[in-house]
Amino acid sequence: MAQQTQSTPAPQQEVQRLIPKQPECNIGTAGHVDSGKTSIVQAITGVWASAHSEELKRGITIKVGYADAAFYKCHITPPPEAYSTSPVCPVCGNATDFLRAVSFVDAPGHESLMTNMLAGAALMDGVILVITANEPVPMPQTREHLLALQMLGMKKMVVVQNKIDRVDAEGARKNYQAIKQFLANTVGADAPVIPVSAQNRINIDALIESLEENIPTPKHDLSAAPLMYILRSFDVNRPGADVKSLVGGVLGGSLLNGELSVGDEIEISPGVAEERSGKYTPITTKVASLGTGAGMTEKVGPGGLIALGTALDPRLTKGDVLVGSVVGRPGSLPAILTHITIDLQLFDQAVGSSALIKVDKVKATETLRLNIGTASTLGTVTSARDTVAELDLKKPVVAEAGGRVAISRRIAERWRLIGSGLVR
Ligand code: GDP
Ligand code: MG
Repeated sequence: MAQQTQSTPAPQQEVQRLIPKQPECNIGTAGHVDSGKTSIVQAITGVWASAHSEELKRGITIKVGYADAAFYKCHITPPPEAYSTSPVCPVCGNATDFLRAVSFVDAPGHESLMTNMLAGAALMDGVILVITANEPVPMPQTREHLLALQMLGMKKMVVVQNKIDRVDAEGARKNYQAIKQFLANTVGADAPVIPVSAQNRINIDALIESLEENIPTPKHDLSAAPLMYILRSFDVNRPGADVKSLVGGVLGGSLLNGELSVGDEIEISPGVAEERSGKYTPITTKVASLGTGAGMTEKVGPGGLIALGTALDPRLTKGDVLVGSVVGRPGSLPAILTHITIDLQLFDQAVGSSALIKVDKVKATETLRLNIGTASTLGTVTSARDTVAELDLKKPVVAEAGGRVAISRRIAERWRLIGSGLVR
């Protein structure tokens, strides 16, 4: 175990990176802390996605990290070696064909960071579920993440059996059987299981091949009104920067539908709370700049992660304060809800701990945590029946009828996932 919790990330690998187009799809990671999620994203993209000083110090992913890659295929080298992230085949040296660019959304695996994991999951078109070859199956957050993904309706999944360098052939076979058994009767029952060593970059080509085959880019509606989920928000100015060089607040996230161009008027909702009244009012501003893994651009579409520069005072976007808000054209966004009615589907047992805890019915006056899209809020139950609950929300959310809610309850000092629901 000692070796797995070391705090320094693996050294940056030399990967020739060329991302010719905006990433068109988000592939997430899920799995227990230290299973190697961030290492796998690094093995594919060449980027260590956990870049915050606190994250580097503690050796765990706290915020949702991200990195982009372009997939290429050689038409001479046979698969899986044909697959790479390089415009030049690493095996034969011939030019490869560009397949597509994707963004990786790297979720934290620690149990106290489930909200960040769920926020990331809201944007995932497919997921890599990472399971270690040298540990019992399943570890608590592996189970919690799988159930969360299942309840959020995630269907596209590739399972990675990581750290195969830590077991012998017999150990790898036994672990593979345990993984298959754990996945039976879940959304991952038919998912391919790819043995990998992220640290030694073994089988990364086979993993890329599997991502190409099992996580297709979903169909997006370009003509629909743009709707962006905010996953991160930043002040990108350095402390003490010259006023003239200051740039407006930056939003990170993905467009679910539609397109946005530099100069477009946008609305951010529910936005930020007024200091005095505590009331949330949407913010209107303009798109000042747009960036993707392929560089700065004039126009973005749905799919991978984008960075949207605004004309806002960066204090309004600093430190992820706008995570959970949505962006769209002024007047076109769903309503801001301060009171919500949810059709409930509770689990039999709470997940996320090794102890099995029975889920009691939802009771009036109790506090639950709700995750909707990339938003997280607390709600006080004002009325509850077996399959319906009404809640007053501490922080309002923007949600449409039919939107999916992940519901957690505080059990023995921890927030545990107890079920899901649909907004009425
Ligand atoms: P995460 O918490 O799931 O994101 O896991 P990390 O990517 O941070 O990796 C946790 C630890 O496992 C780090 O010390 C990595 O260097 C190590 N690790 C990751 N992949 C492998 C692997 O394939 N083999 C071995 N031996 N160690 C690995
Ligand atoms: Mg990580």
